[in-house]
Amino acid sequence: MSRFEQIDMFDHTEISIETKVTERPSIDLLPLNEYDHIIISLSGGKDSVACTLKKLDEGVPPEKIELWHQSVDGGHNDAVEFLDWPVTEAYVQAFGELLGIRTSFQWRERGIYGELMRKDSLTGDVYYCENGKVVHLPTRNGKKTTRLRWPAMSPDLRVRWCSPYVKIDVFRRVLNNHPRFQGTMEQPKKILVITGERREESSNRAKYAETEIHACNSRTRIVHAWRPVIDWNEREIWDIYERWRLLPHPAYLCGWNRTSCMGCIFSTADLWTMMREIAPERFYRLVEVEKELNHTIDTNRLTLEQKANMGSLKRLPKDARLSKWVQLALNRSFRKEDLIMDKWELPAGAFQGAAGGPV
Ligand code: SF4
Repeated sequence: MSRFEQIDMFDHTEISIETKVTERPSIDLLPLNEYDHIIISLSGGKDSVACTLKKLDEGVPPEKIELWHQSVDGGHNDAVEFLDWPVTEAYVQAFGELLGIRTSFQWRERGIYGELMRKDSLTGDVYYCENGKVVHLPTRNGKKTTRLRWPAMSPDLRVRWCSPYVKIDVFRRVLNNHPRFQGTMEQPKKILVITGERREESSNRAKYAETEIHACNSRTRIVHAWRPVIDWNEREIWDIYERWRLLPHPAYLCGWNRTSCMGCIFSTADLWTMMREIAPERFYRLVEVEKELNHTIDTNRLTLEQKANMGSLKRLPKDARLSKWVQLALNRSFRKEDLIMDKWELPAGAFQGAAGGPV
């Protein structure tokens, strides 16, 4: 952690996350101005970006909001280039800067790769970075186990371990331990957590409540969860981008319909073919790891190469801009000035269905 001050925080255990979507009652939110903090969990994808723009459209002051991004490949000195789009963190940072919203990053040590390669050990420590300072939340308790298996392509988070280990639990551990969010029994902190799931995306998400008590709720913290675009369709999402003339994450410009991990386990054959075309080094790295583990990402036991051989490149933009978009997507830097388009247009990845990302 050369450039950053590092602080050890409290002890933590292995994760415990509910695995089923159960019908939970919706709750009444407080008036927005009564929350001490409004956190938007921002992946950089279209739905969480739309949540942010919607809140600003509704008059929520930018200084009342903060953007939290979980870096799925780890962060700073322990990042391992593996599944994520290289540009995502820079895009998220530029978006926050453009809108004047505080932005911070959280991650599990060595990200998805570290968890995938875990052998007879605890899951990795969690870190967060705020104002240039890295804070360390060590994992000391729990059971030493071996992973060495890809996450399963399933909505069941017990077997699709990537989302809970590098996103959901990382977010919760930071919220539960960050000093800014600790209240008292007499005066609990009031926190609203906004996420961008939409019912249109999957039958699993169709069951989500729009509002509920968040898992970080405690006697010293009132934490509510809100999914403000849960019933929006894709047209409404792109409409808000158009109103703001906002450049979508470069993955959409390259033809991807979901901006989750570049090598998301749910990628369709077309997306694997496209990844092999624009980022062959990344693609073949995953091929090598499949061989090393003797385990395929695809639960139907097709290798990545077999899947990529079944797909097509028809969604990649045909014009000369493709190389510009690919360069943007595979770069680690992004200028906030490039976020506003002179003439907004739908990206190649728009209206390609919901398959290819988390369910
Ligand atoms: S985007 Fe895909 S691979 Fe990445 S964490 Fe989510 S489900 Fe897993």
